[in-house]
Amino acid sequence: MYTGRFAPSPTGPLHIGSLIAALASWLDARAAGGRWLVRIEDLDRPRCVPGAAGEILRTLERLGLTWDGEVVYQSRRLALYEAALQELPTYWCSCTRREIADSSLGLAVDGAPIYPGTCRPGAAGARRALRVRTSAEEICFDDRVQGRQCQVLERDIGDFVLYRADGLFAYQLAVVVDDFQQGVTHVVRGADLLDSTPRQIYLQRLLGAPVPRYLHVPVAVNAAGEKLSKQTGALAVEPTRDTLRSALRLLGQEDVSSLEEAVRHWNPALISPRRALASPR
Ligand code: GLU
Repeated sequence: MYTGRFAPSPTGPLHIGSLIAALASWLDARAAGGRWLVRIEDLDRPRCVPGAAGEILRTLERLGLTWDGEVVYQSRRLALYEAALQELPTYWCSCTRREIADSSLGLAVDGAPIYPGTCRPGAAGARRALRVRTSAEEICFDDRVQGRQCQVLERDIGDFVLYRADGLFAYQLAVVVDDFQQGVTHVVRGADLLDSTPRQIYLQRLLGAPVPRYLHVPVAVNAAGEKLSKQTGALAVEPTRDTLRSALRLLGQEDVSSLEEAVRHWNPALISPRRALASPR
């Protein structure tokens, strides 16, 4: 059965950027007659804002974006992530940020230094982070909007962090474990995560998890080209019909007057195959 999900990080209220991802994934699930789950990604405690999760859920409800089943909180699922870590080829890394920046041979697509595998031989002194050993095979997938995407993880990203010694499980690990455990078949989310997808597919293969279908919608950016977020001063969306209409417009969809109509007219082929789109606010 089609199972989709929206997985916000509770770092602030829903803004137009996160609403586009929520609406696209809700419409895609409802148009397919599928289930739509909501998962609060609250692992990175220092970045979470008290009350934000409740506010996001209330806004979704008032917009009519209702979900199926119980809302899941990642902070209550640490045992699942711990168990998955045991199954993966990992090693401890003692490198500091500075050492990685100095030894790296280049920058990954996301701007972070590519990790050159310094601690692979297993000689790490201090245990700073647990990394997964990547491989030289090319990992490709066909995004439903953005087209074919390929990465060679060992060359393009390097062995990446799954767990930090301060007790933090990485997003890349948690998202894969949860999508697997919750039976997610279709992931619809912002294109800022397009470059993370090959890492997630790699972990899915290692864990024997099915690979979902992916659809990445453009992220809303401001006039300066920055992703809308709390840091760039994005405003909380008002739960009104006009808000839904602007979100539908950014998704390239027909102008309709109700959510039911939007479901009937939902056409992912109309979504712009770009990573970013300028939004008025
Ligand atoms: N929690 C992530 C975010 O808010 C989204 C994760 C996902 O959809 O895979 O950016």
